[in-house]
Amino acid sequence: MAIRKILTKEDEILNTVCKPVEKFDEKLWQLLDDMAETLYKVHGLGLAAPQIGVLRRVAVIDVGDGLIELVNPVITNTSGEQRGIEGCLSCPEEWGYVTRPMNCTLKAQDRNGNFYEIDLTELACRCACHEVDHLDGKLFLRLVDEFVKPDEE
Ligand code: ZN
Repeated sequence: MAIRKILTKEDEILNTVCKPVEKFDEKLWQLLDDMAETLYKVHGLGLAAPQIGVLRRVAVIDVGDGLIELVNPVITNTSGEQRGIEGCLSCPEEWGYVTRPMNCTLKAQDRNGNFYEIDLTELACRCACHEVDHLDGKLFLRLVDEFVKPDEE
């Protein structure tokens, strides 16, 4: 496994729509392993492949309930609403209030290509929505309705 460099928002790669994963091979497993290692190293909650320069629809999240590997994730249902402070590993100095669904259902594939469905709520839902946005080349900054400084929280 290896720690990967996290790109920051100035990088054009973060504005690019990622391509689906088609091969569930050792290269994908290496990518997922590296992403998890990088996520834990920086104490993040989620990391999307474009953040380390890979334009594929892959993300990992862990909000404290264990690692979830998302390959080709699609949000199939949402309900409710939550407004809370959000940040991003690619925007290290910026925090702001973002409104997201309270609950979502994701359809995704695991590292072997098997489809699965998962229901996420609260922080896990926020995180998943944030990561799926990355796969579509969208940063959370466009959704912020009020920026905050970390020391004002
Ligand atoms: Zn992010």
